[in-house]
Amino acid sequence: MFDVKEIKKDFPVLQQEINGKPVAYLDSAASSQVPLQVVDAMSQYYATSHSNVHRGVHTLGERATSAYENAREKVARFVNAPLPQNIVFTRGTTEAINLVAYAYGLHKLQEGDGIIVTLVEHHSNLVPWQQIAKLKGAKLYMVELTEEGHLDMEQYQAFLKQGNIKIVAVTQASNVLGTITPVKEIIQAAHAVGAVVVVDAAQSAPHLKIDVQDLDADFLAVSGHKMLGPTGIGFLYGKGKLLDAMEPFQLGGSMIGLVDYYESNWAEVPARFEAGTPNIVGAVGLAAAVDYLTDLGMDNVRKHEEELLAYAWNRLAKVEGVEMYGPREPRTGLIAFNLDDTHPHDVSTVLDAEGVAVRAGHHCAQPLHKWLKAAATNRASFYIYNDEQDIDRLVSALQKVKEMFG
Ligand code: PLP
Repeated sequence: MFDVKEIKKDFPVLQQEINGKPVAYLDSAASSQVPLQVVDAMSQYYATSHSNVHRGVHTLGERATSAYENAREKVARFVNAPLPQNIVFTRGTTEAINLVAYAYGLHKLQEGDGIIVTLVEHHSNLVPWQQIAKLKGAKLYMVELTEEGHLDMEQYQAFLKQGNIKIVAVTQASNVLGTITPVKEIIQAAHAVGAVVVVDAAQSAPHLKIDVQDLDADFLAVSGHKMLGPTGIGFLYGKGKLLDAMEPFQLGGSMIGLVDYYESNWAEVPARFEAGTPNIVGAVGLAAAVDYLTDLGMDNVRKHEEELLAYAWNRLAKVEGVEMYGPREPRTGLIAFNLDDTHPHDVSTVLDAEGVAVRAGHHCAQPLHKWLKAAATNRASFYIYNDEQDIDRLVSALQKVKEMFG
């Protein structure tokens, strides 16, 4: 296992005081913090190797291209993609899912076809499918939750039997409940009816070992900024045969084969899906984040988070008036909760004054909040640099909230 005290040294942002208190950062599900190793890799890139990619034959151009393509290789290894070409760099999960929606969904779907989504989806794996369904006259089916808060797999199987399901879009881990969904089983069942599956791995890739081949995922989307990387970079994994057959998503420079007066053809994958100058330094930073996590070992990352989650769950359960949402297991390291009738924004404002950072709101999951019958929730999320002390700080800050609003 790793030593959290040692890890914290890599994150200067966590060594400062916020509002006169040491910071307890419990908002990594929104954006994780960035270790010095990532910052250094990015500044080193700018200091020694910056240029545009895939164009100049000069030395800096070649260095930039090789930094960018090495990053692609690292990311491919991280999720066990067969080839670097299976990885398309995007701005993040949202752009990756939109890419699939527009470059695959829009072309493949026909009127009357079906798309299955689930109630726990982040808006970015729901709204694009609502829109594609509307544009194509397709039908959207939403898998709801059992009373215990798990995906209703019987309902899922029933939807698959509609006979016209072409796409299943599902998250591997809920950003509100933390629930880890049975993605492998979902994929197997979807493939049995010939549907392709788009996995939103924004909340799972930072915490779980991902093996796209073992999952047999068709597409899988990830954001770098939730896994120690910078903002503005993420990726889409896609099966080669699917990507190869797809039309481009955005058009312009870098994604073309040959451009003539009145028509053009497309570059090979993945360039076909990376129009314009990409976020080169972002890819370099993401690769350094992948190195950092790989050095720690994803099994250790998961073990640490499970221990912290168990501790937090027990401590929060003892705070009178706390309601925690979702089933205890299987979940990633986050807990959404409410405290009495105090509005989450009030809760998080008081917590912030105590140096404790949590997220308050609907977390881009309004349908799920409707189901929870909660307009908003607080969400405390844990990562590799958190320890029991951070949870203790959360619990004592909640007592302060109770004193103020109770
Ligand atoms: N999917 C899930 C489950 C998320 O938690 C998030 C971000 O919170 C996203 C998608 C969107 O990620 P991004 O904003 O990085 O595109």
